[in-house]
Amino acid sequence: MISVPVEQLRSRFRGELVQPGDAAYDHARRVYNGMIDKHPRLISRCVDVADVIAAVDFGRENGLLTAIRGGGHNGAGLGICDDGLVIDLSHMKGVRIDPTMRTARVEAGCTGGDVDHATHAFGMATPTGTVASTGIAGLTLGGGIGHLTRTFGLTVDNLLEVDVVLADGRFVTANEKQNPDLYWAVRGGGGNFGVVTSFLFRLHPVKMVSAGPTFWPIEQTPEVMKAYREFITQAPLDVSGFFAFLTVPPVPLFPENLHGKKMCAIIWCSTASPEQTDKATKPMRTIGKPALDHVGPMPFPVLQSLFDPLLPAGLQWYWRADFVKELNDEAISRHFAHASRLPTALSTTHIYPIDGAAHRVEQSDTAFSYRDANWALVIVGIDPDPANKDIITNWSRDYFDALHPYSAGGAYVNFMMEEGQERVKTAFRDNYARLAAIKRKYDPTNFFRVNQNIQPQNIGVRPTQRESHQ
Ligand SMILES: Cc1cc2nc3c(=O)[nH]c(=O)nc-3n(C[C@H](O)[C@H](O)[C@H](O)COP(=O)(O)OP(=O)(O)OC[C@H]3O[C@@H](n4cnc5c(N)ncnc54)[C@H](O)[C@@H]3O)c2cc1C
Repeated sequence: MISVPVEQLRSRFRGELVQPGDAAYDHARRVYNGMIDKHPRLISRCVDVADVIAAVDFGRENGLLTAIRGGGHNGAGLGICDDGLVIDLSHMKGVRIDPTMRTARVEAGCTGGDVDHATHAFGMATPTGTVASTGIAGLTLGGGIGHLTRTFGLTVDNLLEVDVVLADGRFVTANEKQNPDLYWAVRGGGGNFGVVTSFLFRLHPVKMVSAGPTFWPIEQTPEVMKAYREFITQAPLDVSGFFAFLTVPPVPLFPENLHGKKMCAIIWCSTASPEQTDKATKPMRTIGKPALDHVGPMPFPVLQSLFDPLLPAGLQWYWRADFVKELNDEAISRHFAHASRLPTALSTTHIYPIDGAAHRVEQSDTAFSYRDANWALVIVGIDPDPANKDIITNWSRDYFDALHPYSAGGAYVNFMMEEGQERVKTAFRDNYARLAAIKRKYDPTNFFRVNQNIQPQNIGVRPTQRESHQ
């Protein structure tokens, strides 16, 4: 590994610089997905915007492949790189709530849980994901799908402004009035355009929600799924429920007789009153013979962190995904066949509804392109044991191959592995050309390319120091 002139950076950097050989190195290079094992040359743990500017300048001046790390949750491991520089934002965790304006200014190292914690104290929330340990930065920049999507839209639909350090080291703000093209691009275009140092989100009055799971034995899948596809697309917007296949975990929350049983499920979240929720969801919750129905009032952050204890960092993850417009009978029967063979106890399939408020935004209004899809499907092979890597990978791939013909064509970028340029283009469809033009304006040399990469048109990729030595 070629050494880098770290001393040049140290004099203008307040955070921690971690290199191979340092005691902190092995911990600092780990990301959420235990399958990813990358060895950067330098990890710059920034504490403020000045650090980010210094790190970007250092990476550019030294021709280093440069990755940006928020929460480190990216399935493909795009928050880290081999033999380059990592701009690690995980220590930048400030959140400032403005209760009058109903906004939250959030630094880029926050997780969804950090944001929920801060906003809940004010009786408010912004739509994020479904697992609290996920980084808010990567999640937001790809779109942001979660329990409140039907009600308040995607995370990007609630993003009012970003602060960004560009590839040339300049600091800019992007919102509707300032740099509106950049503001458009960061709402779904991923980490392609610069390092976002803070996000300004719109908040909504959400404190308690009615939430929890309904489980059905997996044999009831065809009946339940057919009812779900009609139910959810017509449900009131304050009611959401994502569809899942799972194995009941052996935890006290669930009756012992269900432990280890494969189920199809709906995980509910409603901002309506408990009575209204009950009335609205009853027709679905009484389909077939549910094995468990456990919906009740809970603080919103409790729902948001419900899955976290089951999903610690370091597990093996392999996922494949697609957007879906229609769940026809053949697709349902293929789901049933593949989900009946969930390969490990933690492997799962989630089908997130992305209609409702997310459909009020036009395809061309933000970089997130699939405004006409009703669901984001993700098939997730998970296991603690690296020896099961092939088993979970093959199951996810086979399942995906069977369902892909019934998809809308492309996937949510945040649920993609490294799947090649054509898949990235398909993820953005008609918005890709505009994204490429904005990329050319703000990052013409493709300095930020450890991501689901949007390539600047007609411009070759500048070789890194390592690449030019090969
Ligand atoms: C357990 C789990 C649950 C999930 N649940 C959901 C969910 O419910 N809804 C959902 O929408 N997604 C979900 N995801 C997917 C998640 O949105 C992506 O994995 C996302 O990339 C995570 O963001 P991060 O900051 O943690 O990632 P990182 O690995 O740190 O970064 C990922 C990418 O984001 C870019 N990036 C990160 N920070 C910045 C920044 N400050 N500026 C510019 N670029 C940046 C980087 O280029 C990198 O390519 C989940 C993921 C996991 C592992």
